[in-house]
Amino acid sequence: MSDRWGCRQKGARLTPPGVAVMSTGNLSESHTMSLANGRAYLAIPGPSVMPDAVLRAMHRASPNIYEGELHDLTASLIPDLQAVALTSAQVAIYIGNGHAAWEASLANILSPGDNVLVLATGRFCIGWGEVAAGLGAVVETLDFGESAPIDLGRVAEHLAADKAHRIKAVLAVHVDTSTSVKNDIAGLRRVLDEAGHPALLCVDCIASLGCDRFEMDAWGVDLMVAGCQKGLMTPAGMSFVWFNAKADAARGTCVTSYWDWRPRAAPEQFYQYFYGTAPTHHLYGLRAALDIIKAEGLDNVFARHATLAQTIWAAFDCWSTEGPLHLNIADPAQRSHAVTSAGIGSSKGDALRRWCEDKCGLTLGIGLGRTPVDAYFRIGHMGHVNPPMILGALATIDAGLKALQIPHGSGALEAATRVIAAA
Ligand SMILES: *Cc1c(COP(=O)(O)O)cnc(C)c1O
Repeated sequence: MSDRWGCRQKGARLTPPGVAVMSTGNLSESHTMSLANGRAYLAIPGPSVMPDAVLRAMHRASPNIYEGELHDLTASLIPDLQAVALTSAQVAIYIGNGHAAWEASLANILSPGDNVLVLATGRFCIGWGEVAAGLGAVVETLDFGESAPIDLGRVAEHLAADKAHRIKAVLAVHVDTSTSVKNDIAGLRRVLDEAGHPALLCVDCIASLGCDRFEMDAWGVDLMVAGCQKGLMTPAGMSFVWFNAKADAARGTCVTSYWDWRPRAAPEQFYQYFYGTAPTHHLYGLRAALDIIKAEGLDNVFARHATLAQTIWAAFDCWSTEGPLHLNIADPAQRSHAVTSAGIGSSKGDALRRWCEDKCGLTLGIGLGRTPVDAYFRIGHMGHVNPPMILGALATIDAGLKALQIPHGSGALEAATRVIAAA
């Protein structure tokens, strides 16, 4: 018989997973050599890598949910959630992933029959629009394709044509995770102002918060949504809606008690924060994550993400001089610092992802929302990432290209390390 360590141990007792025992077998007799052994690296655009400090903070007994430490801890999250979004807007915490925040945000502002303008630059804004349609909104979509940002001129034309101001909310994604495009949110505010249009500016920062610079108040954003498992480095399961006074005043009839942001944003009503049991361990994890961001400083967090993104782009610039590999977004100013989408020619994407994961323990993101899906892959570089991780991922991809004989230009790793050396 063979145990889970791949050591043949005649008659040996099987050990439950996670329990280390001295092996009585011959350790050199494992079945297959694998380079993947070692710490696995999940380099997908969420969930992101969880810092050990976050995991440690969560590794504890449940606290008293009625009084004491957990109350203080929860209240302490609010100013830090405001700080990370550079806003004084209120914030409501939901137990749910980003999709929950999508629904919560729209339920508070919409009534059936309201018009919503969706500015699509990939799968994610379309998804948010589908939630609006599900609530009974009339959804108008301007689609800018899968390799370009929002065209502000087209938005201006569309708003100018809405003389009756039927559009109640404009939905945009700061960074669309499927295409890795970064949209100009401050520019969108200018377009709304120049058109004299009163629609709410609503932004999905689920991929970008804590990675790409986002300034909710300075950029005039009325409503913003984010989750905890991307730039905020906490296991998936909590999400947030920031809303200013204008968004709150726009209150529609779709809101139900569970999604209502008002009691959730009122700290004196602790039980109403969550409508039931608090997500105890997530709160400890998020506290630790926000402490990490605070200690680094938000500007430094943005600068680190920018440098690591440039490191990745430098590698792609070399790879793409020969063969099918190319970055999805041509203009660096329009690229996210949190996620990178790359085209690799039909069917090669899956082969490369498989090789990196099976052979080396590096998991890359799928070509989500793209056709064909396996002609693309993505690298998540959000949150708890540094040069050894990013250079390791790039070197692994470089090895994969060679192993799979996918044609590519040379010098990628040299170019990548030069970016780090110059930082
Ligand atoms: C991840 C993501 C979502 C969806 O979040 P879930 O937690 O998976 O529901 C929505 N929008 C963007 C931009 C994202 O990156």
